[in-house]
Amino acid sequence: MPDTVLAVLAHPDDAEFLCAGILLRLRRERGWAVHVATMTAGDCGSAEHAPDEIAAIRRAEGKAACDSAGFTYHCVGLLDLRVRFCDEQLNAVTRLLNAVRPTVVLTHSPDDYHLDHEQTSTLVRAATFATPIGNFLHRPGHAEPHPPLDAIPHLFYCDPLEGKNLFGHPVPPAFSIDISTVIDAKATMLDAHESQRAWLRKHHGVDNLVQSMRDWSTSRGAAIGAPYAEGFRQHLGHSYPQGNLLGELLG
Ligand SMILES: [Zn+2]
Repeated sequence: MPDTVLAVLAHPDDAEFLCAGILLRLRRERGWAVHVATMTAGDCGSAEHAPDEIAAIRRAEGKAACDSAGFTYHCVGLLDLRVRFCDEQLNAVTRLLNAVRPTVVLTHSPDDYHLDHEQTSTLVRAATFATPIGNFLHRPGHAEPHPPLDAIPHLFYCDPLEGKNLFGHPVPPAFSIDISTVIDAKATMLDAHESQRAWLRKHHGVDNLVQSMRDWSTSRGAAIGAPYAEGFRQHLGHSYPQGNLLGELLG
């Protein structure tokens, strides 16, 4: 069995912006199984389509992006702007971890521009802690589809969008990883999110999604002398795995 990495991000296209480069490298260079999950299907990301219509379009775009890279796509099925730390959503993320059984988990920065990102980060942090605990989901008389994990997986946080928190203060990465060999494949994945071009121009003032991803990857690369890079911080609190597995695997 290959090792497995699971990226749990809030919205379709977040992984393609923040961590698809290292996911592509783990797949191509290490043979890892790669899973990308989004908490929502992006039902608010349109000025033209009704929520159910755009959600269906964006689920298909998320799957197409993952298919182009040999990844598996999951959608937790929540609604945009309604990701929040609660029992129901924590149970759903924990069940996802139990099903995918990752060695490494990636999620959003705890401090980011969007509450869905921050709440996803908190939910994933809690779920990584919960997933090896037998008493958390598994109760006498209640059947769970998957057993608990054996241990807490390695947990890494992606850069916040534009590398800053809600006050505009920089959030520097603890380390950055060169993604220059896979930048074109990362752009291909992002290109699959066709519905977002007009929306991001209207609502976020972003003219060219792929170019803004390339510009951001270039700025992270400059710090380590590489054409393109992605930045990360590792969860190093008590009881979490301490070794920088991503750094060891990808240099
Ligand atoms: Zn997002």
